[in-house]
Amino acid sequence: MLSAQSTDKKVNEVTPELYRRFPHFRDLQHAKVKEIESLIREVNYHKTKAKHLIATSVRVCDVYSGKVPRTHEDLTSLPGVGNKTANVVLSELKITPAFPVDTHVYRVSRRLGLASANTRDKVELELREEFEPQIWRNLHHWLIFHGRRVCKAQRPLCSECDLRKICPSAE
Ligand code: SF4
Repeated sequence: MLSAQSTDKKVNEVTPELYRRFPHFRDLQHAKVKEIESLIREVNYHKTKAKHLIATSVRVCDVYSGKVPRTHEDLTSLPGVGNKTANVVLSELKITPAFPVDTHVYRVSRRLGLASANTRDKVELELREEFEPQIWRNLHHWLIFHGRRVCKAQRPLCSECDLRKICPSAE
């Protein structure tokens, strides 16, 4: 939830103190909005996210006995949790295969010709159809890793890329 429209670096800076002060949903549900805003102020859209964090904690405690829900439908019923976040939770907790499409997965899969659609949701559908569910989690991480290190948004390092011989977008 925190990483939407923000960098992992910023998120990783604010989470240690956030988790230290509010280690459980049952703690976070009683937090003051201003307190959370202050803790996560370095993250983009911190005011909206502070409200969502508290509202989500309230719902998790009231409806799901304080445990992270385990279906896509239940996850996306939480304030501030969209398709990608739900897919990350399902995939990383190994509840069910899912294919989260973030900015790196979207960009790199299109450059490599693995997908061609012009929305993240449609790219997700293309990738899910193209690859077996057993590989989704790792492929998602490989595409992110490659996007951060080599196939960068502004200046892809094609001359250093191991995939340049098979990549239709190689410069
Ligand atoms: S060759 Fe260039 S565009 Fe293709 S995957 Fe590598 S870095 Fe990206």
